[in-house]
Amino acid sequence: MTRPGINETHDPMRTSWIESANGHRDFPIQNLPFGMFSPGTNEPRIGVAIGDMILDLGAVAAVDAKGMNAIASLEPADRVSLRRHISTLLSDPTHRPAVAQHLHRAEETTLHLPFVVGDYTDFYAGIHHARNVGALFRPDQPLMPNYKHVPIGYHGRASSIRPSGVPVVRPHGQSKGLDADGPIFGPSRRLDYELELGIWIGKGNPQGAPIPIAEAADHIAGFCLLNDWSARDFQAWEYQPLGPFLAKSFHSTVSPWVITPEALAPFRLAQPPRPEGDPVPLAYLLDADDQRDGAYAIKLKVALQTAMMKAAGHAPQIVGRSAAHHLYWTISQLIAHHSSNGCNLRAGDLLGTGTISGPGRDHCGSLLEATLGGSTPLFLPTGETRTFLEDGDMVVLSATAQADGCVPIGFGPCRAEIRPAS
Ligand code: CA
Repeated sequence: MTRPGINETHDPMRTSWIESANGHRDFPIQNLPFGMFSPGTNEPRIGVAIGDMILDLGAVAAVDAKGMNAIASLEPADRVSLRRHISTLLSDPTHRPAVAQHLHRAEETTLHLPFVVGDYTDFYAGIHHARNVGALFRPDQPLMPNYKHVPIGYHGRASSIRPSGVPVVRPHGQSKGLDADGPIFGPSRRLDYELELGIWIGKGNPQGAPIPIAEAADHIAGFCLLNDWSARDFQAWEYQPLGPFLAKSFHSTVSPWVITPEALAPFRLAQPPRPEGDPVPLAYLLDADDQRDGAYAIKLKVALQTAMMKAAGHAPQIVGRSAAHHLYWTISQLIAHHSSNGCNLRAGDLLGTGTISGPGRDHCGSLLEATLGGSTPLFLPTGETRTFLEDGDMVVLSATAQADGCVPIGFGPCRAEIRPAS
């Protein structure tokens, strides 16, 4: 193993003395994500997911276990040392007598947001999504002229971000039918999901000191799944000229485990070359190392289970498959751009990539795309159809990093059920 960042913690032959970790779809010993958990009624503390268990990190490592900033603020070399330490504890059975008492069954704990989210920014870096949605609103010009030059984004709402499992209450808002004389106020009738990756910022930058693209990767604490719930009827009415507002700010769901850059080291890819004729990024967004390995081999899925499907014992049906390499901009480009005007990022800030769709109707990361703006319904095994989400629907996002010769690692659950408007 000679690739940068790869060490014994990624060895596919390494196993854990915790049996459930070996072959686990999300949390084998090669993953070791961090999160905030409560065993019983105790205060939240840092845990590491391993198989069906959670290791209480503060009991076995010299970190302040009360908050994830202790992890986020570590220098890259110290993060690697911590990962090696945890991997040794959980793989070498001689540590079992001392460590086993600090394990908790995951199903008996509560998972929290990993960070107190200061700021949340959502980008629009999934080019297939941008093109699909643009074609619905502007058939003559699906991609705006700026798209291939500047990473598009907007400032989202941090206060309404919730971990997986917290139900989404259908929002009220203002909308206007195409032929209606005026707007109405009421529950959304075009509620949608968005399949995104989230990036947790670790080390921040002082205001006025942009993060150079070559250093941007050092500011990533980790990755999660992000469902940027969207009320399309409100969005269509409110979005001009300033962009998304109440159509997005009622609720966003994240997977609670922080998948570290160290765990993802074996899954890095070259950023796919831009199509012939596309502009070369401006110098502050272009770095040879980032182009060489700034993309990720992460497969993404979104699945839907209606209340009727659940009652009939049908598993959630996959309604979209995509992959992280469909992002037009790398994560480092998003970070460098965000801070390029001197804006200070802080530990615990959340960046969304934007909806990641692939080419084709089976690869859509939103219902808006999959149903062509609500005109072509999806068919479900119960005989039901969907254009947009109905009350009782459960949406499940999942992600798996996969590469030849590596043990795949998953992101854990990112799910929520739609509840009726209150
Ligand atoms: Ca979004």
